[in-house]
Amino acid sequence: MDSTTATAELGWTIYPSQGWEEVSGYDENMNTIRTYQVCNVFDSSQNNWVRTKYIRRRGAQRIHVQMKFSVRDCSSIPNVPGSCKETFNLYYYESDSDVATKSSPAWMENPWIKVDTIAADESFSQVDLGGRIMKINSEIRSFGPVSRNGFYLAFQDYGACMSLIAVRVFYRKCPRVIQNGALFPETLSGAESTSLVAARGVCVPNGEEVDVPIKLYCNGDGEWMVPIGRCMCKAGYEAVDNGTICKACVSGFFKAAQGEHKCLQCPINSRTTTEGATNCVCRNGYYRTDSDPAQMPCTTVPAAPQNVISIVNETSLRLEWSPPQESGGRDDVVYNIICKSCGSGRSGCTRCGDNVQFVPRQLGLTDTRVHISDLLAHTQYTFEIQAVNGVSDQSPYSPQYTSVNITTNQAAPSAVSIIHQVNRSPTSITLSWSQPDQPNGVILDYELQYYEKNQAEWNSSLSRSQTNTAVIRGLRPGTIYVFQVRARTVAGFGRFSGKMYFQTMTEEEYNSSIQEKLPLIIGSSAAGVVFILAVTVVIIVCRRRSSDRPDSEYTDKLQHYTSGHMSPGMKIYIDPFTYEDPNEAVREFAKEIEISCVKIEQVIGAGEFGEVCSGNLRQPGKREILVAIKTLKAGYTERQRRDFLSEASIMGQFDHPNIIHLEGVVTKSSPVMIITEFMENGSLDSFLRQNDGQFTVIQLVGMLRGIAAGMKYLCDMNYVHRDLAARNILVNSNLVCKVSDFGLSRFLEDDTSDPTYTSALGGKIPIRWTAPEAIQYRKFTSSSDCWSYGIVMWEVMSYGERPYWDMSNQDVINAIEQDYRLPPPMDCPSALHQLMLDCWQKDRNNRPKFSQIVNTLDKMIRNPNSLKAMTPLSSSVHLPLLDRSTPDFSSFSNVDEWLDAIKMSQYKENFSNEGFTSFDAVSQMTMEDILRVGVTLAGHQKKILNSIQSMRAQMNQITSVEV
Ligand code: AMP
Repeated sequence: MDSTTATAELGWTIYPSQGWEEVSGYDENMNTIRTYQVCNVFDSSQNNWVRTKYIRRRGAQRIHVQMKFSVRDCSSIPNVPGSCKETFNLYYYESDSDVATKSSPAWMENPWIKVDTIAADESFSQVDLGGRIMKINSEIRSFGPVSRNGFYLAFQDYGACMSLIAVRVFYRKCPRVIQNGALFPETLSGAESTSLVAARGVCVPNGEEVDVPIKLYCNGDGEWMVPIGRCMCKAGYEAVDNGTICKACVSGFFKAAQGEHKCLQCPINSRTTTEGATNCVCRNGYYRTDSDPAQMPCTTVPAAPQNVISIVNETSLRLEWSPPQESGGRDDVVYNIICKSCGSGRSGCTRCGDNVQFVPRQLGLTDTRVHISDLLAHTQYTFEIQAVNGVSDQSPYSPQYTSVNITTNQAAPSAVSIIHQVNRSPTSITLSWSQPDQPNGVILDYELQYYEKNQAEWNSSLSRSQTNTAVIRGLRPGTIYVFQVRARTVAGFGRFSGKMYFQTMTEEEYNSSIQEKLPLIIGSSAAGVVFILAVTVVIIVCRRRSSDRPDSEYTDKLQHYTSGHMSPGMKIYIDPFTYEDPNEAVREFAKEIEISCVKIEQVIGAGEFGEVCSGNLRQPGKREILVAIKTLKAGYTERQRRDFLSEASIMGQFDHPNIIHLEGVVTKSSPVMIITEFMENGSLDSFLRQNDGQFTVIQLVGMLRGIAAGMKYLCDMNYVHRDLAARNILVNSNLVCKVSDFGLSRFLEDDTSDPTYTSALGGKIPIRWTAPEAIQYRKFTSSSDCWSYGIVMWEVMSYGERPYWDMSNQDVINAIEQDYRLPPPMDCPSALHQLMLDCWQKDRNNRPKFSQIVNTLDKMIRNPNSLKAMTPLSSSVHLPLLDRSTPDFSSFSNVDEWLDAIKMSQYKENFSNEGFTSFDAVSQMTMEDILRVGVTLAGHQKKILNSIQSMRAQMNQITSVEV
């Protein structure tokens, strides 16, 4: 309310009528104004009120009143009585509506509320009521809190001579404002002058809160205080107009994150697709890695390396090049070398094998040079030097490269690394060695240089051998000789091996060994035939004692040290029987364990040579482990000892998770022991029988995979097992299967205790597990092991069923000859039976390699759906034997016989107790009945249910025939 803006009479209510008087006048700017005057100073006890009109509160809590007035100085009025005043009072009265009348509210304090007594700062002595000479006071007073819809003001004069020139009534508020990126609404000040009223801010459009809460306080004077919290423009938007607007980045500019910073121009080779971009996308052919900052230019793949120089040195090569002219805008260019060997002619180039060596490395070279060695001699190679950088893998094109063609030179073979002594006598030593890691061509022969240790080297003799064994004769007894060997190819001789020392026997040693071995030689010459090995050409010529003796009984037992197809570095199995003294093989391949480290706990089985026990092994510096301990029973012959320990010499050469691990041997005390890792679940055949039907197909395939992996390893080592069968697989607590049983003596003819091994010409053979060519003409190879593996698969899938059931060995041989094969065991996926049939191919060359078997099984494990299909019997290419997994019930005279046949004899009593004593009753059995007779194992339930189903089918057939 502002009295100065009134254009007509103010018309305020006056009490009493001779008090205040409304008068028109002028303000200091000579504008016409309406004023109220009173000047009854000569009359005592004045009480003059003037009341404004009803003023609406409009939400305000505190009201401010500005009064302009002038008061006449009492002293300037001649003869003025003492009652003359120079002040007046300001009152207010709240009311929800305009209800005041002439007499109400009563003209007195209470109901009116006094705000203050107002005094003039300046009074004036001479007043020209026309307004010419005026001293005007201005005072502001405020009151609150007010809460009704409106109020009146009243001015009480009690004896002053004054003029109320202008009255302005107002409240204070803080205006709508944008501060710290947030918009705060108009906010009225609080009820007290010290009040602070909080206002919540909201981020401007496209702003985001960073500090919360966002608040601003409005004080009693209608002023905002300092804001708390803040908003910032989000990614893609920047603050403009003093932070009051978040504006989208214009095309070609981006802002990656929320913040106060401005939009940035897109880096080189990038652009935006919309306004408000948070990043710039790379132009075609340009890329960014995950770690490249957004403001970094987009980069591209490097050009090819330049100026390649190649320097060939025999079978090594040095390549040097300069960096590409264009790095693609990056500084992380590295180089990869692709090696291709190119045969002569049209066959094209193939990637080099793993054996080629690159120094410092083949891929990710940071320097512009590489040294390549172990290339084949006389071979053309193409080397591609690729330049790649951090974005090469994003490009759809292969890296740019520069290629260089080279041809290696002739190179001599590398040195032989180790020589073994195989045999010795007073006048001869038989040696064998592995072929050099880098033959660099076909090895034509080896040259052996030797001389007596205490003679000069120039006095040495030379001997040639076409194989990697040699017998050096004509030596002096009891003499130490120095041996060195080197290989020869068309490129000439390689370097000699290091010097190795071997000693001939003394005559005394020889004589006593003859005495000792006489029975052994006789025994093993019969056994010798057993050890005819799988390799077609046995090229070791090894004379046992001296030139006047015929070939040793070991001749045909020596493994063929192949030259050629072995990859360098591959360990080859060495038959311990090739050692003249098998104890030496034991020393070489098995660790001697102190008997004090071994603690036998209990007997767990019977081995061929004595008890098998479980126990603990605690070796110094190692933690205690569970072990199996095979013992050699007391009273053994020297030959038994040798045969017993031969298993350790064989096992000790192997190191694979699916081959039983040898811890060591105890030979220095009695009993002699072989100590191996402990396999908690014992042998696989009995383990499966005990857990009939308890495993998933995947678990069974997992076991088969382990066995195949172990066999692959043995095959790679050139070892032929010859007795692979579930009984020779051990199972640990994690169901890991390991191939075991490397003893050979069970094949010997004079051991007749075990009917599994049938005597055949030249040894004993486990007929049911053995490939036909091995039965017929002793062709034992990894392919015959593969046949046996197929039988193991069948044993596993039938939970330890005997292969070919109760057929006689001769019937088995005949059936196989006529192309009959075992049918799929119950619930056996057809893919697995197919793999068995592959293993049982008549032509051994058509059988899968163990590496293929491992791959096939891995695929099945990865894709269990492939194991869902079951073969209908008729679809097999081979003739299946009669399927015995669901026997013909009509051949049984009673239910007990039927239960025996399906290997469920343990339930005979339960069946008869529950009244299932006839085939009629049994064929009606439901799942509840099966549970009622106490069959709770899922595998057994399945087996019985399947047999009942086939019984029903067979009954139906019979009925229909009768009809
Ligand atoms: P073997 O003479 O190797 O046929 O062993 C005879 C029996 O001893 C086997 O059938 C197994 O039950 C048991 N056996 C052999 N070696 C171990 C072993 N490492 N862990 C557990 N049991 C074994």
